Amino acid sequence: MRKKYAAGNWKMNKTFEEGQILLSEVVNMVNDEMNNPNVHVILGVPFPYLSSFTKLVNSSKVSIAAQNCHPKPSGAYTGEVSVQMLKSVGVKYVIIGHSERREYFGESDAFIAEKVDAILAEGLTPIFCCGETLAQREAGIHFDFVCGQLTNSLFHLSAEALQKVVIAYEPIWAIGTGVTASSAQAQEMHKILRDHLASKYGQTVADEISILYGGSVGAGNAVELFSQPDVDGGLVGGASLKSRDFTDISKSFP
Ligand code: PEP
Repeated sequence: MRKKYAAGNWKMNKTFEEGQILLSEVVNMVNDEMNNPNVHVILGVPFPYLSSFTKLVNSSKVSIAAQNCHPKPSGAYTGEVSVQMLKSVGVKYVIIGHSERREYFGESDAFIAEKVDAILAEGLTPIFCCGETLAQREAGIHFDFVCGQLTNSLFHLSAEALQKVVIAYEPIWAIGTGVTASSAQAQEMHKILRDHLASKYGQTVADEISILYGGSVGAGNAVELFSQPDVDGGLVGGASLKSRDFTDISKSFP
């Protein structure tokens, strides 16, 4: 059975003190209320909080993620953070290829592929984000575009390496807009992505890969989205900043 995830992306929100409160609320609620052994909760928090938060999490149900990394192990890359550094403070997951990084920081598929390699080489798990713009969807090129993102950043991997990647499909038009893809739209794209993985790696490998949906997931729509056969959970922005909502999302799996 594929692993299911409720992954939060705090983005550039919360002071350290506010973050500590949110973290402890989420960990306590998840510990008390979320009893599905196949679901794992991930919190993607700002870099300065990682070292302390990995130590504060006293739950096997919750892990801390970084929201980005640099692919080089060390060197003259002012302001950047390597996977080795993340690993040294106990981080287990790294979100990469988020549309905000692609758009505002010009990250290419090739650069994201380098990050995938660096993360896997250190034994951490990449949460690889992909997704189309509204214009691409309206032009009918969304399936090809998102499959292309997978091809460009993941298809150099061996089957063994690919199975360590978590994919997050996040239509850009649904991120932070309050407009969610319908459960049918999410399922349609997830199935196409899984078929695309199967075309290169075979169905058995493709069936092992967790594909999360992201884009205005909330406590009110998570049950329907997560009940789709190819939707293995969510990457959650805004609603991950509210402990009650995010815990409810983590309890929304069938
Ligand atoms: C995100 O940024 O990954 C995201 C899905 O944000 P939101 O849930 O706020 O749409």
